[in-house]
Amino acid sequence: MNRVDTFDAVVVGAGPAGTATATALAQHGRRVLVLEREKFPRYHVGESLIPFTYHALERLGMIPRLRASAFPKKFSVQFVAPSGRASQPFYFFNRYDRETVAQTWQVLRSEFDQMLVDNARGKGVDIREQVVVTGFLRESGRHVGVRATLPDGSVREFRAPVTVDATGRDALAATTYAWRRNDPMLRKVAVWTYYEGALRDPGIDAGGTTVAFIPDKGWFWYIPQHNDRISVGVVADGKYLARDGVKDPAEIFHREVKENKWIEAHLAPGRPCGEYWLTNEYTFRSLHSAADGLVLVGDSFGFLDPVFSSGLMLALKSGVLAADAIDAALRAGDTASTRFEPYAREMHESVENMRKLVYAFYDKNVSFRTVTDRYPEVAGDLTDCLSGDVNKDFTRMFGAFSEFTTLPEALPYGMPAPAGTVFAP
Ligand SMILES: Cc1cc2nc3c(=O)[nH]c(=O)nc-3n(C[C@H](O)[C@H](O)[C@H](O)COP(=O)(O)OP(=O)(O)OC[C@H]3O[C@@H](n4cnc5c(N)ncnc54)[C@H](O)[C@@H]3O)c2cc1C
Repeated sequence: MNRVDTFDAVVVGAGPAGTATATALAQHGRRVLVLEREKFPRYHVGESLIPFTYHALERLGMIPRLRASAFPKKFSVQFVAPSGRASQPFYFFNRYDRETVAQTWQVLRSEFDQMLVDNARGKGVDIREQVVVTGFLRESGRHVGVRATLPDGSVREFRAPVTVDATGRDALAATTYAWRRNDPMLRKVAVWTYYEGALRDPGIDAGGTTVAFIPDKGWFWYIPQHNDRISVGVVADGKYLARDGVKDPAEIFHREVKENKWIEAHLAPGRPCGEYWLTNEYTFRSLHSAADGLVLVGDSFGFLDPVFSSGLMLALKSGVLAADAIDAALRAGDTASTRFEPYAREMHESVENMRKLVYAFYDKNVSFRTVTDRYPEVAGDLTDCLSGDVNKDFTRMFGAFSEFTTLPEALPYGMPAPAGTVFAP
């Protein structure tokens, strides 16, 4: 162990949540260090943005970079039945401003995350790659920084009045403190790969997301990317995907392709061009979102089933909100967990509203169409929530849904640990 450095905040993880927190803190004039395990650019899944990611991206100064990028513009979402019959695409500009919120992007995460890192560095954030954070430093229970292993194998401490856990689904704090709570129902498995030369729809629909159903409320995502690539994956119950003992991800994937005529036809002229990925680490929430001197952002706070592509919006938004709360706490000279309660409440509400719709989506007896046919007055609210405008009063919409399905109770997790909690080493 050798030198010790001091910062206003140490952020663990340089994904979207970590870079958003760091950038917004730097915009407040704070001295921020980000420690990232990987060498960027690195691969990551999660490639489709939703309209209301716009505000966080704008705040971070990312919009000009995105406008100048090769990422396909995403104007719409469509749903496709197993028979191959596609719904009319829903165009975001039918409800939102065409020049801002209504147009978003399908990103390649290696490039998008690198852009976020470059943007953060441009605003003065110190980002160090290939540094693995192995634990939190605490004094009298309060978090005061991290211990990390550097690329040369040496161990070093980095100190700050606030530590931010942005480690994604690795969830460093939730793992360290046994805070991980799985969702009682949302235990899905995802299998995905990439294609070159597969079909994309013409014109304005070329960058749209397609959600294509298979039996048992499973679904495919079909996300057109640049360089003639398509990201395509299937999500369903593990038991369904592994039926008849099939375990190999490629076999699972290709069997399901035959279950949706649109997916089959769109992939037919293309060829797979990457490995087959599988994950069954699914929806969870952290028991706490903060402690004295510690704040959790993005997936480390909680991960929600990706059916509505909400992950990046939630990660970026949580980063910006957390940064504002941290800056205010630093100004007050008080970084106790209670300072982060409004942050926790807002993120809890965001995730819970999305989560209710995810439950409704997976209910075999519900179609969103049936709900809005009977209650046309809730169609706008539904669009807003699915587009990421999630912190609103949706009582009327969820009241309508309740006639068709049982919506879940909010999970009683995610508030800060009580101030003064002393954690076991
Ligand atoms: C199958 C699937 C499909 C998805 N599809 C979508 C989608 O279409 N749209 C969407 O918006 N979202 C999607 N998501 C969700 C999206 O991937 C995440 O919400 C998003 O990546 C969260 O960002 P983050 O910054 O919190 O975490 P991450 O992006 O995971 O970043 C965490 C970073 O922390 C680093 N790290 C971890 N541990 C350490 C450590 N100990 N020390 C140092 N660094 C560390 C990691 O290397 C990583 O770079 C999907 C997710 C899955 C699983």
